[in-house]
Amino acid sequence: MRRTVIQMLATVLVLWGVFTANHTFVERAVPTAAAASTGEAGVDLPILMYHSILKDPGRSGKYVLSPDTLAKDLDYLKTASYQTITVEDLLAYVDNGTPLPEKPVMITFDDGYYNNYVYAYPILKERSMRAVVSIIGKQTALFSENGQENPYWSHLTTDRLHEMSDVFEVQNHSWDLHAYGHRRGCIRERGEDQVSYRALFEHDTQQTQQLLTDAGLPAPTCYTYPFGSLSTESEGLLRSMGFRSTLGCEEGINHITRDPECLYRMKRYNRAPGLLTDTFMHKIGA
Ligand SMILES: [Zn+2]
Repeated sequence: MRRTVIQMLATVLVLWGVFTANHTFVERAVPTAAAASTGEAGVDLPILMYHSILKDPGRSGKYVLSPDTLAKDLDYLKTASYQTITVEDLLAYVDNGTPLPEKPVMITFDDGYYNNYVYAYPILKERSMRAVVSIIGKQTALFSENGQENPYWSHLTTDRLHEMSDVFEVQNHSWDLHAYGHRRGCIRERGEDQVSYRALFEHDTQQTQQLLTDAGLPAPTCYTYPFGSLSTESEGLLRSMGFRSTLGCEEGINHITRDPECLYRMKRYNRAPGLLTDTFMHKIGA
């Protein structure tokens, strides 16, 4: 009799283990009072990744979303009591304990397209929400110089970045390493020695820092890896250049504590079109 009870208890424990293992994602998705950001336990942070925003449905692709869908996503987050934060807020929390909202979310835009100014900027501003834009320095320099502004192919100028700075925090998405060539993004090429790689990567990164600070904008504190690609050396080099945070493309929820280490290689969810807002938000646990 006693053995049967023990066996039953063991079975229940095993089943409970399986159940919770399968449901950890859902559990994490529902923040409780214990997850309040001011506590030592830290807080969960979903980060969403957007690229181009264009009205023309014919243009929609994996990295193009309609303004309508963006607005629906943001309304969903607002209704669910999420509050947008930037990297600066994360640093204030880690360094000084400045509280984060109870349900923080980070909205990121990669590549720095001019259409972010046309469509995303007013939609965010209307809702008093903030976002992070990670620019490809060489593109911003090119369009700042030629002044061309076309939603389909232009990138943001430094003047527009200034104008948008009440909503958008600007971060570094390389100067000219946003390409698939022999090198994918900023990874070290096969056979490239450490010294050459370091020189190239540092020079590339600093050019974007220089462009922005020369234009009177704050120096980026976060490096957003092109295509999420990195080499084993990349993180160390960015840290030595003073970067406090890096963003990748691996999917998942970040757990933010006062430990500054948690701001490196943060995970994100790409917001591809084709999913209804509700479906996408449920997928990421929001
Ligand atoms: Zn990119």
